Amino acid sequence: MPGLIERYRDHLPFAPEDPIVTLHEGSTPLVPAPRVSERAGVEVWLKLEGANPTGSFKDRGMTCAVSAAVREGADAVVCASTGNTAASAAAYAARAGLRGAVIVPEGKIATGKLAQALMHGARVIALRGNFDVALTLVRELAQRHPIALVNSVNEFRIEGQKTAAFELIDELGELDALCIPVGNAGNITAYWRGFQEIGHHPRMLGFQAAGAAPLVLGAPVEHPETIASAIRIGNPARWEDAMSAMTASNGAIQAVTDEQIIDAYRFLAEREGVFCEPASAASVAGLLAHGARGAERIVCVLTGHGLKDPQTALERAGTVVPCDPELTAIERAVLG
Ligand SMILES: *Cc1c(COP(=O)(O)O)cnc(C)c1O
Repeated sequence: MPGLIERYRDHLPFAPEDPIVTLHEGSTPLVPAPRVSERAGVEVWLKLEGANPTGSFKDRGMTCAVSAAVREGADAVVCASTGNTAASAAAYAARAGLRGAVIVPEGKIATGKLAQALMHGARVIALRGNFDVALTLVRELAQRHPIALVNSVNEFRIEGQKTAAFELIDELGELDALCIPVGNAGNITAYWRGFQEIGHHPRMLGFQAAGAAPLVLGAPVEHPETIASAIRIGNPARWEDAMSAMTASNGAIQAVTDEQIIDAYRFLAEREGVFCEPASAASVAGLLAHGARGAERIVCVLTGHGLKDPQTALERAGTVVPCDPELTAIERAVLG
């Protein structure tokens, strides 16, 4: 498959002669989830966005944001990030030959994401403050300098990410509801835009972590806390858009506890063979905790790959079995 700009150019703000920066993102697997379906009592599909080039859906938006930055003659890209935007921006900046700078909350970014951003040669800046503070600061920075801001306040990000909705309709024809984790709320905004553009209106069921659930509480959360670091956001930039997607689609935005998130995270890995990161599991956790509101065919978006956050996995998984190099010991270890 080509990249998503080429695949869906008719729906995107790029002309054939525009420079395109792509790693052939998009066209990700949509797999049935028999075990989740059984537990939820409805037909459930998983959209594996961790299969994108840098391991998260952020690549969909980044191919558009960085292509536009090149077209506009920017010489650097910058973002605030809980991790995946940083990894994606760093990769696409490297691909484009632009400088990349990413601002992350100090000590709050998963190991895999940090490794990616550093490997791609971005300047990684650890802010003594949370994501919301970082975003406020980079917005100011981008106003003062010829730097492209590639957070989801950037319209090109939303444009790119809406293509996931096209893929779902191309493959399934129809769905009743979309379950999706919500952090800064760019992705729920993008899916809703995508569905609307092609005349579909599934219920948008968004899920926030209970310790970082401003849209559920109706007020910003000053000190957001959750194990799902990708959605540890207290004041979503796309607040209004997310609320109107919810209302217009007759959907809901609800909270799930860290315990429910971890339960879904482990269930997906152990019973479906799908390893996503904790934030991604919020979509399935939400479906299991709150039900489908009458929907029968549901897609859960698994936003990022499990390898992004090996630390959490190792803390929550089983232990390694030590063994002496002898057949009887191996037999006991394997079969016992
Ligand atoms: C960015 C991200 C989210 C949240 O998406 P928003 O557009 O900020 O709502 C969820 N899961 C993962 C893995 C992410 O990287």
